[in-house]
Amino acid sequence: MKLVEKNKGTEVSHSAANSSPQDENNGGKTRPELIKKASTRANLENYEEAYAGFSWQDARKEISYFADGKVNAAHNAVDRHLNNGRRNKVALYAVGSDNKLEKLTFQEISEQSNRIGNALKSLGIKKGDRVFVFLPRVCELYTSTIAIAKIGAVAGPLFSAFGPDALRDRLRDSGAKVIITNAALKDKLDSIRGQLPELEYVIVTDVEQNKLGHQELGFKELVAKQSDKLNCEQMDPDDPLYLLYTSGTTGKPKGIVHVHGDIIGHHMTTKWVLDLRDDDVYWCTADPGWVTGTVYGIFGPWSNGVSCVSYEGRFDADSWYKLIDKLKITVWYTAPTALRMLMKAGDDAVYRHSLESVRHICSVGEPLNPEVVRWGMKVYGLPIHDNWWQTETGMQLICNIPCLPVKPGSMGKPLPGVYAAIVDDEGNELEAGKLGKLVVKPTFPNILRQVWRNQEKYNEYFKIPGWYFSGDNAWKDEDGYFWFVGRADDVINTAGHRVGPFEVESALVEHPSVAEAGVIGKPDHERGEIIKAFIVLSNGVEASDKLIEEIKDYTKKQLAAHAYPREIEIKDSLPKTRSGKIMRRLLKAWELGLPTGDISSLEDD
Ligand code: ATP
Ligand code: MG
Repeated sequence: MKLVEKNKGTEVSHSAANSSPQDENNGGKTRPELIKKASTRANLENYEEAYAGFSWQDARKEISYFADGKVNAAHNAVDRHLNNGRRNKVALYAVGSDNKLEKLTFQEISEQSNRIGNALKSLGIKKGDRVFVFLPRVCELYTSTIAIAKIGAVAGPLFSAFGPDALRDRLRDSGAKVIITNAALKDKLDSIRGQLPELEYVIVTDVEQNKLGHQELGFKELVAKQSDKLNCEQMDPDDPLYLLYTSGTTGKPKGIVHVHGDIIGHHMTTKWVLDLRDDDVYWCTADPGWVTGTVYGIFGPWSNGVSCVSYEGRFDADSWYKLIDKLKITVWYTAPTALRMLMKAGDDAVYRHSLESVRHICSVGEPLNPEVVRWGMKVYGLPIHDNWWQTETGMQLICNIPCLPVKPGSMGKPLPGVYAAIVDDEGNELEAGKLGKLVVKPTFPNILRQVWRNQEKYNEYFKIPGWYFSGDNAWKDEDGYFWFVGRADDVINTAGHRVGPFEVESALVEHPSVAEAGVIGKPDHERGEIIKAFIVLSNGVEASDKLIEEIKDYTKKQLAAHAYPREIEIKDSLPKTRSGKIMRRLLKAWELGLPTGDISSLEDD
């Protein structure tokens, strides 16, 4: 297992063996067992061979289709395991916020989702109707999502921390007919109910029928009287499976529609990138209200028949590590913001736990600072595998996969079956080393099918025939690794140089006093823009002008002369989306006194 440092050319800097935690102040712990596991055979063993030989047509053999090419993603995720030896295998370890553990087997998920599916049918819900789930990460969230997919309705997972505005926007835009929620969250819904003319029923998981009002139904009573038998709806691969809103990092969230045929991409990428195998216990920390939690917290791993963990509790370093040890989690898929918080919590927090079971760690959602990868190598004894994709792409596309060396700071290489490139504004491919727009050929099965009720927005992604424009800027190195630079709108133009915020933020967080950084371009009459950084200090560090100067000097040494932040402002926290992404557009709006735009996804606690 190797880390390869950018611009150093050789693959020597940190191998699992030579970065032995024994070298560090780690309380004398070693992780030989873990390193041995990490070097066992990966599901995808030879990248070049797989890339050259792969066809989506061949991959169909991994998926169960009905006659005439019909398919159902939920059948693949759950019901097919009833006849392949996994019937009594635990599909879900659901850990509540009180740490209570509930286990559901594939058979239990199947029967429970059948009952819920029959209940929805009894309410007149048909193929294509939108049914939203507004629940914390409890069993009913998972069984309901599967149920909706089984009957061919369109699942709309909603993050439980959404406030009434975010909820209203999504429910109104989607024309949801039913929402499944609980008593604690129902208040938020009640306050906007009058603004949702298409909403017919509210199903409440934990309130009895006699305590509910008009068009409200008690989940337990409704579901208990249903049969646990249900034949999954046989869907056309292009029929909608779920409707999910983007994170809202760059503007108003877009409703992205994905289809049942996506299950093939869910299955293959889970197998290659997350490297899941039958005996794994896998934890995706993302909520299903975000695409990662739906695709890689439900459909992808279950299609591979793997036991998943869901954790209802909030982030806290000790609780997370305890959970890993308690359930002996082997594969862990998380996000840079969580990893930066874990880094901030310190090395000792890691060494208080064993974490021996973990053999593979992946990250997605934002650029992963190289410093975090190096830290992960030091404290976990494993490289963190960054990967890049979007709500719109419906599956991971550019990834660090286990059989390739990790270059800290790079998103990795395009997966087999995916062609990615860096192009100019006219769609001409640029050579290695040149900064440009990150595009992919829309020839993989999971590319979005619609932006809900917004054809114009959909067309924008495909403005140049043959390409899907991601809206991100990046470059590719000579080895075919892709490096994220920034959202197209976030790239800073300073004195004729284009600078990506990620590069500057990564240099800042390398300074021991800086826990987090968000960087913007601030208009300047001389330079066009200057680089301004907003930083959050590490625990216990005192703010001072001297420290700011020291941090500036430090980054000056790390970056090209034009790329260091001329202004640094210390903040208690950075504005983030509820999925944990830094909202640079808000930093900019605040700095310039401009309107803030859509902030329905803004994390406010
Ligand atoms: P919106 O489209 O509403 O502005 P969003 O783009 O953040 O929100 P998502 O679809 O959740 O919504 O996120 C996809 C984006 O996240 C990518 O376009 C990219 O900018 C960023 N991203 C995801 N993974 C990575 C990664 N590994 N490295 C860098 N950026 C990433
Ligand atoms: Mg986006």
